[in-house]
Amino acid sequence: MSTTTKPKIATCWLGGCAGCHMSLLDIDERILDLAKLVEFTASPITDIKRPPAVDVALIEGAVCNEENVHVLKDFREKAKFLIALGDCAVFGNLPAMRNMFTLQECLEEAYLDTVSTVNGRIPTGPDLPKLLPKVLPVPHVVKTDYCLPGCPPDAEAIWFLLTELLAGRVPEPTRIPYQFFKFD
Ligand code: SF4
Repeated sequence: MSTTTKPKIATCWLGGCAGCHMSLLDIDERILDLAKLVEFTASPITDIKRPPAVDVALIEGAVCNEENVHVLKDFREKAKFLIALGDCAVFGNLPAMRNMFTLQECLEEAYLDTVSTVNGRIPTGPDLPKLLPKVLPVPHVVKTDYCLPGCPPDAEAIWFLLTELLAGRVPEPTRIPYQFFKFD
């Protein structure tokens, strides 16, 4: 990590529910300590999809559409360490439930076979991100340095990994203490 400037952290929200970001906030007042030490460059709040170079990128959610692929690859290029944050990012979890069906079956169920707000048609248009045939976990799209499972992951696990990396220690992914992992 640079000693002359604050380490930079970016967070990103792909196909997920924001619960993992909420878990980050669950580190409570320590986030104020963290904010003194680091610079948050991108987050769902700032809505910056193209981050500058960062030390750590926390990626929440699965890869559901082509825009997610581009955003994720951009974060990978810019980040020294990329963390798949939560079950959706690690293995697909809730968004990947649609993988049991074809994309067309999912769209028909969502827009044609149920009451919808778009008058019984499947929305299309150049402004809509193109859905992938199957939802992908983050490690299937880019090299991932760390996976923190959990739905959401434990705030203590996020705190542990961030403080280790910011202190210049790079824990082996297999050496993250077992008690920090949640498999729910
Ligand atoms: Fe939400 Fe759970 Fe997915 Fe995190 S892992 S985005 S909390 S559904």
